[in-house]
Amino acid sequence: MRASQFHLFTLKEAPSDAEVVSQKLMLRAGMIRKAAAGIYSYMPLGLRSIRKVETIIREEMDRAGAMELTMPLVQPAELWQETGRWDTMGPEMLRLQDRHDRDFALQPTSEEVVTDIARQEIKSYRQLPKNFYQIQTKFRDERRPRFGVMRGREFTMKDAYSFDRSKEAAGHSYALMFATYTRIFDRIGLDYRAVAADTGAIGGDRSHEFQVIADTGEDAIVYCPDSDYAANIELAEAVSLLEHRAEPGQALEKTPTPGSATCADVAALLQVPLATTVKSLVLATDDVDAKGEPAGVTLWLLLVRGDHSLNEIKTSKLDGLKTGFRFATEAEIDEHFGCKPGYLGPIGLQKPVKLIADRTVAHMSDFICGANDADFHFTGVNWGRDLPEPDVVADIRNVVEGNPSPDGKGTLAIQRGIEVGHVFYLGDKYSKVMNATFLDEDGKPKHFEMGCYGIGVTRILGAAIEQNHDARGIIWPTAIAPFEVVICPVGWGKSQAVRDEAQKLYEALRAQGVDVILDDRDERPGVMFADWELIGVPHRVTIGERGLKEGVVEYQGRREAEVSKLALDTIAAHLL
Ligand code: ATP
Ligand code: MG
Ligand code: MG
Ligand code: MG
Repeated sequence: MRASQFHLFTLKEAPSDAEVVSQKLMLRAGMIRKAAAGIYSYMPLGLRSIRKVETIIREEMDRAGAMELTMPLVQPAELWQETGRWDTMGPEMLRLQDRHDRDFALQPTSEEVVTDIARQEIKSYRQLPKNFYQIQTKFRDERRPRFGVMRGREFTMKDAYSFDRSKEAAGHSYALMFATYTRIFDRIGLDYRAVAADTGAIGGDRSHEFQVIADTGEDAIVYCPDSDYAANIELAEAVSLLEHRAEPGQALEKTPTPGSATCADVAALLQVPLATTVKSLVLATDDVDAKGEPAGVTLWLLLVRGDHSLNEIKTSKLDGLKTGFRFATEAEIDEHFGCKPGYLGPIGLQKPVKLIADRTVAHMSDFICGANDADFHFTGVNWGRDLPEPDVVADIRNVVEGNPSPDGKGTLAIQRGIEVGHVFYLGDKYSKVMNATFLDEDGKPKHFEMGCYGIGVTRILGAAIEQNHDARGIIWPTAIAPFEVVICPVGWGKSQAVRDEAQKLYEALRAQGVDVILDDRDERPGVMFADWELIGVPHRVTIGERGLKEGVVEYQGRREAEVSKLALDTIAAHLL
């Protein structure tokens, strides 16, 4: 590629609404352009990286025996009604009608469509196992689209669905996908961790997330540095902020003992009757500073009963309950969570749930699930999701770190992560409701055992940048860099020797399959260097007349502070 023919358009400043570094750098480098909240064009530069991610995923999925197909973006309501998800998906699923007033949804995921395909096309156990995947646009009307491609509304996902004849075989498919994901993220070159995860809105009972380690991550991972234990915080024993006993009127302890409280205990603690309908959560703190601002350990507390307003609750039962305890104001909640108390999205709580007696609270999501499981199902609590501010994690860290890990092999630590992949064992959850069966060896119909496996293709770019950047710009892992090598000729317009050598090197590298760009824009070195450092190309070769006279060119790796001089006739070999 020649820069003069390519579309390069870099910005000195990121738009003011860009929040995190990857979003700022992708916009400045000209990789994406915003069309609406959470909706982006992938510009030629950005698309090059996206295609490289897709190629790695495709190669590894194919290697694992999965088959690519694509399923429709616009999906008929009837299929979603069969599983009940038409009603339970809530506002995250974008719905539309055609000219005949028929209902459709833009696919947020594709379990329904793929199960429909399987029930029509897989008749016999002899056709199993099968794993279908697509690399396709998804639409999720996220409550809070942000961070550029990391939480878009329109984004690209690789989603795969496995079909097996038995639980055991499905376990093999799951293990194969787990191993495939490991290969994919290793090849991409990210620092990541596979963690146990909640099964949330999709259901099933085995699930792992692949989390890229980054301070801006919206999830919190609790792990043990001395063992394999790692969990997204919603599963972690450690998130037991509410799991403690306290007598009515007694102050909340700062370090609760995990695993002991029941909903009855909590109801007693809060002085609310059992079967209280919990409509929302309130951010509260057990400490205030001189100005009355929250300080110390911040707790998220359930609150607000169905028949009481937030204010009533605030001023009645709970106020006098704990010394120095105050509820966050609506403005604070808005600031922290970007929503009103009546609809606290961070935990995905969209419907009121009830506290019921005698249910042991194993972790926060249990507590919230308390009663009405049917109501609750699919609303998808995920405590790890959308953690609003770094200090909240810092607060959790204070409570969690140093506690013994559940496997007894060390103590717990906490770090933030970006969920880039997710593997689920689904069992017969979808095949049963959609009556998707095959004939087994004994001639009897059986429901498929299924698994589903997602990767956030576009999110990976953001995650990679969060992990790899400096003050000058992006530092791409080579495998997904838009270009691997840039050649910067100094004096392109003036020097025939420079043009000849630059061209020769460019051709030599291209012949070897190196993804190289020749910067033939005839720009000053400062302009070229600033652009390519912002864009994050891993290797740069500078060719100038003075160096050529000595038979050398300058090489600089994007992570290196120093330029090194290399003999002209060795540079191609050096880059290969
Ligand atoms: P999150 O917890 O971040 O909302 P999710 O658990 O809802 O993600 P899954 O249903 O597991 O997402 O989808 C599979 C993958 O798709 C995720 O692991 C993530 O990498 C990606 N993904 C999900 N939502 C988005 C989004 N809004 N923008 C970009 N990528 C996304
Ligand atoms: Mg989500
Ligand atoms: Mg998630
Ligand atoms: Mg997920």
